[in-house]
Formats: sequence, C-alpha cells, structure tokens
Amino acid sequence: MNLQNALDFNKFMGKTHTKPTEGHKVVVSKSSSVPLYSSCLRVLLLSIIFINILSCTQTEPSRSEFALGTVCTITLFDQANPSVYRDVFNRIREIENLMSVNISSSDVYKINENAGIQPVQVHVDTFIVIERAIFFAESSNGAFDPTVGPLVNLWDITGEHPDRGIDKVPSQEKIDEVLPLVNWQDVVLNKEDYSVFLRRQGMALDLGGIAKGFAADEAAFIIEKAGITYAIIDLGGNVIVMGKKPDNTLWKVGLQNPTILDIPFIGIIRTPQNSLVTSGVNERFFIQDGLLYHHIFSPLNGYPVRNRLLSVTIITHNSMSADALSTAVFVLGYEEGMILLESFPGAEAIFVFEDWEIRKTPGIDFELIDESFRMN
Ligand code: FAD
Ligand code: MG
Repeated sequence: MNLQNALDFNKFMGKTHTKPTEGHKVVVSKSSSVPLYSSCLRVLLLSIIFINILSCTQTEPSRSEFALGTVCTITLFDQANPSVYRDVFNRIREIENLMSVNISSSDVYKINENAGIQPVQVHVDTFIVIERAIFFAESSNGAFDPTVGPLVNLWDITGEHPDRGIDKVPSQEKIDEVLPLVNWQDVVLNKEDYSVFLRRQGMALDLGGIAKGFAADEAAFIIEKAGITYAIIDLGGNVIVMGKKPDNTLWKVGLQNPTILDIPFIGIIRTPQNSLVTSGVNERFFIQDGLLYHHIFSPLNGYPVRNRLLSVTIITHNSMSADALSTAVFVLGYEEGMILLESFPGAEAIFVFEDWEIRKTPGIDFELIDESFRMN
C-alpha cells in the first residue's frame, strides 16, 4: 500500500458510507495487496514487542506453525524442552481436526452434514466448546451465534470459492434465504451421550469465533504442566502471556492497528499473566467497489457488522472467554457491549472506533503510542 492510498484511507475512515440494511462498510482505497498485508502485520507486531526478551533469556527459539487457518507461534522461556513445543502443536492440531468446518472427518463437519437429519456424537472437547459457545450466545442475546456458518459460507470472505465470480457481495435475496438458518436456539445438546443436533437442514456450526481461544487455553495448560515459568502463546492474535518476566515487570503487548495503514500498532498494553484477544475488521475482509466487507456478521441482518467499531480487544484470564467475548462485544457495539462485560468480572476491553477514537475500561494499563488516535 503506498502513501497515497494510506492517506485516502485515513481520510475516509471518518466518513463511512453505508446503506441502512447493510453491515459494516468502510470506504477504503482499492488495493489488491491489502489482505496479504493484514496477515503479515500481526507477526511483525509480536516480533517487535518481544524482541528484547528473546535475546537474553530464551533457551529454545520460538516455533511457528500454520494451524487453525493462521500462523500459531509458541515462545517458551526458561527450561524449554523441544518436546513441549511438539506436545503443544500436537494438541492444537488435534483441536483443529475436531472442530474445523473444512475437514471432512471433524466433529463439526459431521454435525453440519447431519443438520436436520440426526444427532452426532462428538468428542468431549468439541462438546465443551459448543456448550460454551451456546452459553455466550445466550449471554449476548444471540449477538454471538455459533450457527453463523451459512452466512460465513455465503459471504466467503476469505475467497475459498473463487468460482462464484467477481461480485462477491451476495444478493439480498440470498441473504434472506440463509438468515433464518442462523439460530443458536436450534442447537440441541445432549450431555448424556455428548451428541449435538442442528434442528434444521442447511444449518451449520462455525466455531471460528471461539475455538482458537480453547486451543490457546489448552496450550497454556500443557506448558504449565511442563513446569515452564513463562511463555507466550499466539494463535493468530489470540495471545496468552504466562508467568512473570524475569525482571518482574509486566508483559508488554502491542495493540494492533485495525486500520490497514502501515503503522503496526497503536499502543502498548501492560499486563500480568493474561489472555488478550482482538476481533477486528482487518482480520479477514474483501474490498468491492471501494468498500470493505469483513468477517464478523450480524445475526440480525446477515451483513458484516457496522457500528462504528474497528476492533474490540478483550483481556481476561481465560482465552476461550476472551475469544467469544471479543466477537460478542464487537457485534453488540460499545454501549451494549459494555453492559455485557459487566456480567464478566475481571474482563477488560479496549475499543477502537472508525473515527480513530479509543475507549477502554478502567482496569487496563494502556499507553497510546500513535498520536493519530485519541483516547476518550
Ligand atoms: P473472531 O472475531 O474471534 O471470530 C470471527 C469469526 O467467527 C468469523 O471468521 C466467523 O468464523 C465467526 N463469526 C462471524 N460472525 C460471528 C458471530 N456473530 N458470532 C459468532 N461467530 C461469528 N481459516 C482458514 O482460512 N482456513 C482453515 O482451514 C481454517 N480452519 C480453522 C479451524 C478451526 C478449528 C478454527 C477455530 C479456525 C479455523 N480457521 C480457518 C480460521 C477461522 O475461519 C476464522 O477466520 C478465525 O477463527 C477468526 O478468528 P479471529 O480471531 O480473527 O476473529
Ligand atoms: Mg472471537
């Protein structure tokens, strides 16, 4: 992205165009390289933040592998043993094999295949994540909805189905057709036999808004059990910082810039051991006719959510909760999102808005670095 494009984007971010029925549409300058840029940015961000720690105390280099549709990086400090990396990545792959919508032997694939036909018995891990997803669906009044699969497929934000042609924005007719299939209340869970049933044919689970959090928690569990004192887990932006740094200071984690300008991060969060998860418009999107369409959908109207937010970061002790809450709060928007957060003591949030305003809950130690943004 050249400077001219960046300036255009900068100018437009405050002046978005939208039609009342449509989801989040941010006017941006056209650039075919933007999605690639976005995925590179996160890796860069983390390498900046942790660089000085890496040089002095790490006994094993960090390991990155592609899993869960993203780059997963584990960094173990102090007594790190190569077998711990292996165990962590094995566990992440195990979770992917159970919960991916794309792997035909996965539990989620089988549940979707049998929608409206019959219940499917699943692994206890899958059951736990779906149960938790339903809990967050209920808590957020359906803003978080794990049955969003038909919308994810229809919008095809990541372009898995290029055969569908250049005009990617689906017609209103198609959206109206799939929207009734999105309803978490039509998920039937049976704890007796760990079975899951989607009541209507065409329904589909998608655990993209929660399962990375579960995987991060599981990775932390393995690392803790191995007796490793401090570590960083980064599963494509689902970050857990573990333990205390050797000098007893707090971890510093960069808050990613959710615009697509060449400025990697907005500021620094200082935190003790914690999970940090961000949901944002820049994670996955496509651009059509100068408009940006992202991957977080409103279960009410079937469009990418549009509510002035560019990103929501949740900081709390559990990555699965942080993951679901970041998506839920993003969908709800600032006011309703804050109300939801009141029922999760210990959860803190940072909101970045389209007009480059930042708001945060009082319990976060956040230092603004990029002065194009302003705190409120
Ligand atoms: P979050 O905000 O945490 O979640 C957004 C995601 O949640 C969306 O992408 C969508 O999947 C879903 N969602 C959208 N709206 C809602 C809503 N209202 N309520 C609830 N959920 C919603 N990506 C690939 O490209 N290829 C893969 O093979 C692949 N495999 C994966 C396997 C697993 C087990 C998981 C967990 C993820 C996988 N992914 C894959 C990534 C996935 O498709 C999502 O893009 C990713 O999880 C989004 O995470 P996020 O933190 O960016 O966004
Ligand atoms: Mg999430």
